[in-house]
Amino acid sequence: MSEVQKNYGKLKNYVNGEWVDSESDKLLDVENPATGEIIAQMPLSTVDETKAAIELAQDAWQEWRETPPISRARIFFKLKELLELDFENIARIMVQEQGKTIDESRGETRRSIENVEVACGIPSLMFGYGLEDGAAEGIDEDAIISPLGVFAAICPFNFPAMIPYWFWPYAVATGNSYIVKPSSQVPITQNYMFRAVEKAGFPPGVINLVNGSHEVSDTLMEHPKVKGISFVGSSPIAKYVYKKSAENGKRVQAQGGAKNSLVVMPDCNMDRSVANMLASFYGCAGQRCLAGSNLILIGDVAEPFMKKFTEASKKIRVGYGLDESNNMGPVISAKSKTKILGYIDGAVKDGAKPVLDGRGIKVPGYEKGHFVGPTVLDHCTPDMAACKDEIFGPVVTVLRMKTLDEAIDFIHSSPFGNAASIYTQNGKWARDFRYKTQCGNIGINVGIVAAMAYFPFAGYKNSFFGDLHGQGQDAINFFTDRKVVITRWY
Ligand code: NAD
Repeated sequence: MSEVQKNYGKLKNYVNGEWVDSESDKLLDVENPATGEIIAQMPLSTVDETKAAIELAQDAWQEWRETPPISRARIFFKLKELLELDFENIARIMVQEQGKTIDESRGETRRSIENVEVACGIPSLMFGYGLEDGAAEGIDEDAIISPLGVFAAICPFNFPAMIPYWFWPYAVATGNSYIVKPSSQVPITQNYMFRAVEKAGFPPGVINLVNGSHEVSDTLMEHPKVKGISFVGSSPIAKYVYKKSAENGKRVQAQGGAKNSLVVMPDCNMDRSVANMLASFYGCAGQRCLAGSNLILIGDVAEPFMKKFTEASKKIRVGYGLDESNNMGPVISAKSKTKILGYIDGAVKDGAKPVLDGRGIKVPGYEKGHFVGPTVLDHCTPDMAACKDEIFGPVVTVLRMKTLDEAIDFIHSSPFGNAASIYTQNGKWARDFRYKTQCGNIGINVGIVAAMAYFPFAGYKNSFFGDLHGQGQDAINFFTDRKVVITRWY
């Protein structure tokens, strides 16, 4: 499968309905992580440019909020149509800049569009509520749901298309204006998707894209006209964003990192469980906040399960994601690869047994790519850094435990609380796991607990700072306020 373009040149910002060159002379190279080629340059937009975009978004807001919800919805119907037309190109560009496989990219593109589909229902999703005689006889009380102004998203590298769509369609459909700051590592996909946004017919200033890094993020978090920030990224930055934005009086939803465990009970259906969890451990080369990382084997399932799991892991085909026969692409950068290899080295030094070792993998023709092969480390112990920290690579740390409660205690010892899964056919064990486990996303015989667009993308502890999550009704609540009206009728 060919690349959409070899090189995307210097990227532009999309502000007030126009594509504009950044005035910044600071440019970051965007690298294809499979080939090592430089495929675009992204400007580090300035503080002044970001402030100007915020002002223009604020100017656009008044008229947009007066646009009836059904008219706003029509533009989202058009956007859906346009994104469908661009579907394959979006997916291929994503492979090129992020490294995931074409199938994973298609899945992500579909998930992005599903959020637009949900936003199309906005007239009936932002109803308020009222009560006749609610305050007293002849005095009615109503709560009206209203938009607030300008919102912004600061996005991570691992889902270049989808993550901005957890937020901005809901914000704009409810009558706010918006600024998207893509990850500086993967800005091209979102820049490309803005061509569809441009054609869909949003009034100038309602939806904007500003390329950049920390200066842009900080300006969005500090500016008095920004009402709220949606962030997705690593936990230390999520905490920083939560604090800084809150100090500046903003609403915040800040999704952080993860360390997810998959627990295998002795009665599981082994073949189906192995098949299901491969995508969890190795999908997106392990660079997913919902990726499995610790594999916890309970009791005597350990030996037979390890045999099947290791055999299946060996069959993962690693290479450039545009080749449809590959199951796993590279990791995002040389820096990331070094970090992942460091965790494997550390665990092996501390006694883990590498039953499958992806450290030395070579992909012929892609010598400059940042590939790490599937890695399975058996006989890990809970104190190892590889079992505690977010590795964000295709590395499985295997722990053997005696009981389900021991596994749940271990999961609870983590500062993260994003996802956890159990593989069992026993209803009581499944129910106990769901009931007791303090994580935002729970899988029962499911290894990637990815909430659909009409469900919130949850997270506990260091995996989420804030109150309301991205997607669906939670997002609609985040981007609106309730105005209470008490009316005395004469
Ligand atoms: P990151 O924290 O490095 O960067 C995220 C964004 O924050 C980027 O846009 C970046 O430009 C900006 N940023 C980084 N440092 C900043 C600073 N000091 N000041 C202001 N802005 C700053 O995250 P990443 O490496 O791009 O993404 C991977 C992380 O995202 C992983 O930890 C993963 O688990 C997490 N993630 C979480 C979820 C979730 O829903 N919980 C989903 C996807 C990814």
